[in-house]
Amino acid sequence: MQAPWDYPDFDDHEIVHFVTDRASGLCAVIAVHSTFLGPAGGGVRFWHYAEPGAAVRDALRLSRGMSFKNAMAGLPLGGGKAVILADESRTKSPEMLAAYGRAVEGLGGRYVTAEDVGMSVADMVALSRETRHVAGLPVAEGSVGGDPGPHTSYGVFLGVKAAVKRALGKESLSGVHIAIQGAGSVASGLARRAAAEGARITLTDIDRGRAETLAAEVGGEAVEPDSIMTLEADVLSPNALGAILTGESIAALKVPVVAGGANNQLATPADGQLIHQRGILYAPDYVINAGGIINVSTEYLKDGDQDTVRGRIEQIPVRLEQIWSESAATGRNPAEVADSMAMRLIGR
Ligand code: NAD
Repeated sequence: MQAPWDYPDFDDHEIVHFVTDRASGLCAVIAVHSTFLGPAGGGVRFWHYAEPGAAVRDALRLSRGMSFKNAMAGLPLGGGKAVILADESRTKSPEMLAAYGRAVEGLGGRYVTAEDVGMSVADMVALSRETRHVAGLPVAEGSVGGDPGPHTSYGVFLGVKAAVKRALGKESLSGVHIAIQGAGSVASGLARRAAAEGARITLTDIDRGRAETLAAEVGGEAVEPDSIMTLEADVLSPNALGAILTGESIAALKVPVVAGGANNQLATPADGQLIHQRGILYAPDYVINAGGIINVSTEYLKDGDQDTVRGRIEQIPVRLEQIWSESAATGRNPAEVADSMAMRLIGR
C-alpha cells in the first residue's frame, strides 16, 4: 500500500489514522481533512473494498468532501470521514464497533463520527458507549437530531425552488414538472413538499413498488428507471445514485435545471463544465443536500433547537444564489465556483 501522501486524493489531510484491532478484526481508516472551522465531522462507512488502497482513497476523497460541505453549510465543523473495511460477508461484530469507538475517542474530539452507508442508528448507539464524539443518536420526538433524511429533503426542496426561480422565473412550483430519480428518504420528502405546492411529479426507483406507492401518494407518475434521465421536464432531481452526470448523460438531458440531493452527481469535475456549457442550471450537490449534516451538527454541538436547524437549512437557497450569481459574473461553472468558495472558507 502507498503512503497516504502518494495518493492523488491526498490534499494535505491533517490526520490519516489507520486502526487495526487484532482481537475484533477491526481494520479502519479515519481521515481528518481539515479542522480549520472546528472538529472534523463526517460519517463512517462500513464497506467491503476489493483492496485496502480503495478504502484509503475513499476516506481521503470523502473527508475532503465533508470539509467543503460543512464549510458551505456555515457550520463550525471541519471535514472528516472514516471507513471500516468489511470482509466479504460484511460481518459486523459488537467488539469491532467497540474498537472503532475507542479509536474515535482516542482522537480526543478532533473527529466526530456519524452514520453512513452500511451503518445504522443502532450502531451509533453502540459507539456512544465508547466515545462521546458520535452524532446521529435517536432522540425524543421534537428534539434536535435523529433521522437526517427529512432535513435533507427540506433543503433540497428549497434548493429546487431557488433553481426554478432563477432558471424559469417562477416563484412557486405550481405547474412545474419535476423528474425525480429515487423514491427513498430524500426523494419522498421532496416529492411530497413539491406536490403540495402544485408541482407535477414523475418519479422512478429500481424498487418498482416503492416508486408506484409514492407516485400514487403524490398524484404523480412512476416510470422505468432508464427513462428518467432523458425525460422532458423542468427539473431533474437526482436523489438516488452518484456519478449519474457523465458526458453521455449530460448530452441527452432535456431539462433546464438539475437539482437534487444525491451525493457526487458529477462523474468527473469536467462534467460540471459540460452541464454548464449546455446552459443547464446545476445546484452543486454538497450545497443543496446539507440539511442532514446541519441537523446532525446542531445535535452534536448542542447549539440550537429545531428552529435553529430550520433557519440554517433556509440558508441553503441563499448560498446557491451566491454561487449562481458568481458563476454568471465570472463564467465559471457552479461546481467550480462552489469548490473555490469552500476552499476560501477553510483557509486554503
Ligand atoms: P434511500 O436509500 O432512502 O433511497 C435511495 C433510493 O434510490 C432507494 O429507494 C433505491 O432503491 C433507489 N435507487 C437506487 N439505485 C437507483 C437507480 N439506478 N435508479 C432509481 N432509483 C435507484 O437513500 P436517501 O437517504 O434517500 O439518499 C438518497 C441520496 O441522497 C443518496 O445519494 C445519499 O447519499 C444522498 N444524501 C442523503 C442524505 C440523507 O440525509 N438521507 C444526506 C445527504 C445526501
